[in-house]
Amino acid sequence: MRISVGHLYPGYLNIYADRGNIAVLARRAALRGHGLDVRPVGVGDPFDSNAYHLLYIGGGQDREQALIAPDLVDKGEAIRSAHSAGVAVLAVCGGYQLLGRGYRGRDGSFMGGVGLFPLETVAGTRRMIGDVLLECELDPGEAHRLAGFENHAGRTLLDRGATPLGRVVHGFGNDGESGFEGCRSGRALGTYLHGPLLPRNPWLADWLLAQALAHATGEEAQPLEPLDDELAAEAFRVSAERARKRGGQR
Ligand code: GLN
Repeated sequence: MRISVGHLYPGYLNIYADRGNIAVLARRAALRGHGLDVRPVGVGDPFDSNAYHLLYIGGGQDREQALIAPDLVDKGEAIRSAHSAGVAVLAVCGGYQLLGRGYRGRDGSFMGGVGLFPLETVAGTRRMIGDVLLECELDPGEAHRLAGFENHAGRTLLDRGATPLGRVVHGFGNDGESGFEGCRSGRALGTYLHGPLLPRNPWLADWLLAQALAHATGEEAQPLEPLDDELAAEAFRVSAERARKRGGQR
């Protein structure tokens, strides 16, 4: 299959090598005989909600977020309809914040968001920085762990009844208090975890690919055949150990 990926604002939202997530998706798709067509979507570019099986948006400083936020809001309706139609989404940090209803920056200015995720974000005075370890269960009975790195001023508040991506084992997570990290809405995942995230958590890359393939075929998502992930498992171990040692320390 050809999997079409819309990469939102790669020129602005790409800190902590977030574009590495695309490289992992491409490699793991290719090892199963699938191809990834990655199409950058920038400021002023058209956005066709029927053109993609997977959307990706990375993280960035408040300044970069402010530069793209008005254009993202203009694309908001089309992005929400793509999500409702079952397109898979991975949104990291600054991109995650702007797929919520908005982000109030440290200077008090409000950046409107897409409202795909039921949440809002407010910048705090101290940044939440460090390694993170989460427990999560995207499919019933399939417990996994996620390891990554966070660096954000934003405190993200999920609406009552919203589904977090995972429970914080070590780290700050959405707001350093709730004990939860990220948000999930159907096939859309939002997270503060950089690193990049997918090289050390290959199971999540496969989950996203399976969702994108399900959207492409109209069938139920099927688990992909396993790969030799020894190297990724070692990267996970090192990252998880760092989180155990120093995650969430103020
Ligand atoms: N600028 C946002 C914040 O500070 C997001 C940062 C990021 O993407 N790492 O919270």
